Amino acid sequence: MVSVTLLSPSGPERRDDARTAHASVSGHNRSPMSELSPPSRLLCGPGPTNAEPAVLEAMQLPILGHMDPDLQDILLEVVDLLGRAYGASGELVLPLQSTGTSGMETGIASLVDPGDVVIIGVNGYFGARMVEIAERWGAEVVRVDADWGEHVPNERLLGALDDHPGARLVAIVHAETSTGVEHPLAELGAQLSGRDTLLMADCVTSLGGVELRVGDWGVDYAYSCTQKCLGSAPGMSPIAVSERALQRFDARRTTLPFTFDLRLLERYWVNRPATYHHTVPVPQVYALHAALTGVVEEGLEARWERHRAAAARFAQRIGAGGLELLADPEHRLAPLSAVRVPEGADGAAVQRELLYEHGIEVGGGLGPAAPPIWRVGLMGHNANEATADRVAGALLEVLGRRSSN
Ligand SMILES: *Cc1c(COP(=O)(O)O)cnc(C)c1O
Repeated sequence: MVSVTLLSPSGPERRDDARTAHASVSGHNRSPMSELSPPSRLLCGPGPTNAEPAVLEAMQLPILGHMDPDLQDILLEVVDLLGRAYGASGELVLPLQSTGTSGMETGIASLVDPGDVVIIGVNGYFGARMVEIAERWGAEVVRVDADWGEHVPNERLLGALDDHPGARLVAIVHAETSTGVEHPLAELGAQLSGRDTLLMADCVTSLGGVELRVGDWGVDYAYSCTQKCLGSAPGMSPIAVSERALQRFDARRTTLPFTFDLRLLERYWVNRPATYHHTVPVPQVYALHAALTGVVEEGLEARWERHRAAAARFAQRIGAGGLELLADPEHRLAPLSAVRVPEGADGAAVQRELLYEHGIEVGGGLGPAAPPIWRVGLMGHNANEATADRVAGALLEVLGRRSSN
């Protein structure tokens, strides 16, 4: 069962209370169905974040058939709410039936033919993942690298475009969750306007948490997920596709897999009467509807401000405790703070203590290229100063206790 792998305690640092709490999942002769009882955690890592109570309630509503007219109305409401969250103006907006990574792969596959030149900014793990996906699709990738913790200056992306004027796409991670850096995306969109090259942005950790206006900024393809700043359950990938990106899609030379064909998805999600394409994950759709309703009721600007204030509080608390953030202060990403692990501290052991003694999940460095960091996410429901205080306090407490031992 999934819970066994997810929850089996790792490492020698566990205390007795943790062992007791996990006895039911580490035992061998339990009856599988009756003992599924994941512990409740405060999820302050790079995502998922804790879903809002309204989201969890929505997931228990009655399942409807995927062609039921009442469900079809709900789908259109989700499309409308998503368009508002994205700041869309006429883009095709819908959630893919898979996670954030599928949004990345669908963008590359839909807009790039094998042999096309693609310029990708890489300043962390997710930029590198874009490169890998583009290479798998046969693109000729021009990488523009920056150090982890820095942003990729737009001048360097434009310089690469001057060197490769026929490039099909410039792709950038708006919110690099592996380092806590925000890309100046509005500026990049403005600088690319009037050019033939499409702009693709990874908005997985920005949608619902950081200012984002795909319409005004000229983003041709944006993708995100549901489990980070939107505060929904994991499992879907909202995308926003501009009219000219759809025209490129229609004109592409290669045939695409059926599952993520943008036009077939449009005929199911947006066009009425709907044409069957796949069976939507109905509880996920309800969850997303509830989460987006919360976003729209709160107001986007208030929500961005809430994420900013939580991050500022967290930075102030850990700064006072002598810790430093990785990201360049001019380009810090509010929903995710990467904290440098101080000299001599065992980052992984601290993470385990936070999990098992405080019930708080934070992330570590992602991938072999990562510097020693903890990644603290204050996203969605958890983006508030009280949670910032709780996580900062727990982190400093664990560190202080370990260093005085
Ligand atoms: C989380 C994340 C992804 C991947 O999303 P999944 O839902 O895990 O597939 C992609 N890009 C960034 C920047 C992310 O933070």
